[in-house]
Amino acid sequence: MPKALKSTVSVSELAGQLMALDDLLASCMRCGLCQAVCPVYGATMKEADVSRGKIALIENLAHEMIKDVEAVSQRLDRCILCGSCQSNCPSGVNTTDIFLRARQLMVAYKGLHPVKKIIFRFVLPHPGLMSFGTRAGSWFQGLFLRKVNEKTGTVEAPLLRPFVGRRHFQPLEGRSFSAKSGAIDTSAGASGIRVAFFPGCVPDKLFVRLADATMKVFEKHGVGVFMPDGLVCCGMPNLVSGDRNSFNRLVRTNLKRLGGGDFDYIVSPCATCVSGIKENWLRFREDFTPEEQRGIEKLQGKAIDITAFIADVLKANFTASEAKEGDTCKMVTYHDSCHLKKSLGVYAQPRAILDGLPGLRYAEMPEADRCCGSGGSFTLTQHDLADRIGRRKRDNIVSVKPDLVAVACPACMLQLMDMLSQNGDDIPVKHVVELYADSL
Ligand code: SF4
Ligand code: SF4
Repeated sequence: MPKALKSTVSVSELAGQLMALDDLLASCMRCGLCQAVCPVYGATMKEADVSRGKIALIENLAHEMIKDVEAVSQRLDRCILCGSCQSNCPSGVNTTDIFLRARQLMVAYKGLHPVKKIIFRFVLPHPGLMSFGTRAGSWFQGLFLRKVNEKTGTVEAPLLRPFVGRRHFQPLEGRSFSAKSGAIDTSAGASGIRVAFFPGCVPDKLFVRLADATMKVFEKHGVGVFMPDGLVCCGMPNLVSGDRNSFNRLVRTNLKRLGGGDFDYIVSPCATCVSGIKENWLRFREDFTPEEQRGIEKLQGKAIDITAFIADVLKANFTASEAKEGDTCKMVTYHDSCHLKKSLGVYAQPRAILDGLPGLRYAEMPEADRCCGSGGSFTLTQHDLADRIGRRKRDNIVSVKPDLVAVACPACMLQLMDMLSQNGDDIPVKHVVELYADSL
């Protein structure tokens, strides 16, 4: 990606703004324990890539000990915002808050990259345009794609290498879920529960089968569903790129769409969307009106990931694992998405579901909760680094010789598919909700 751009504030003004983070920065005791868990540091072994090093760089810039804003910004961009350092920090340093706010100030200083500006301001707010784009792409993808793995169905796009690199991925499925379903408004059935369904951009447009599987779970358990027209992206891509204004606009649109609904929970098969609603809409609520803030607080209290919904709310009755021992059992292992485990604390529920499904035998992989290197746009802007991190995850997966690997995050699905397929492994990647829906 070419460098952006123009300064709208001076280095001294930027330093002054970064001083607002000084108390947060000072809470780091420089113990270095984050080195053991940081996936970026694990790949590069460079101090500037771990949170302690990044915090030192921000602090030095804030105190005008250094003045090279671009160099600090590039280091800050080499962070997946996986939350591993925060969840393992003995001093409780809120690294997510530090890095998100520092990126926003960097963007205010140097401007947003033009490609991101177009996507965040003119594509993500328009779900109909996105649905049309994926539909049109599905018509013509045969001209560009070459199948690379029959068993997993992955493809590569040699003619599109300048845009997608050598990635392996799955072809577009065609119509988006929301274009197929339109608005949904059904009453609670046997469960007595009614949910707002927030599919998220990837399950709505790319992995449509995840949205279909989630709907099947609702239907089989007698759950009423509210899904209004015009839901937009949760805003996480904008936020992690430092574009808080366009993030706020997306949150505002979703608040308006969901505001009129009467529901007990807001459920998504996308862990990133749930952590976005639960943590980050709330984190930046000071930008909103009092009425909007009440809406944000209401929604964050109701947001829940689909695996936690199945296990904790529906209390689905899983069979004992002894009942499914046998020759036909498939071995499944599970990768913890950072947003699901480290942000939302959900890790036992997907394992309980997998362990209870007929025809599956569960095996824990080493370092199951180590980041896979996906991180949304991180994999696009830092592809080589994402690859190096992903290869460690791939090695951990194949070490238990599974027949398939389960995850509960669409972004991790993309990364694991790519890593496994690149290495010629015939191991399909499935979302937990797909496997659960198949059993119903
Ligand atoms: S961020 Fe936390 S774990 Fe890392 S050096 Fe600072 S205090 Fe230690
Ligand atoms: S958020 Fe993740 S990638 Fe970023 S510094 Fe912390 S551990 Fe490393």
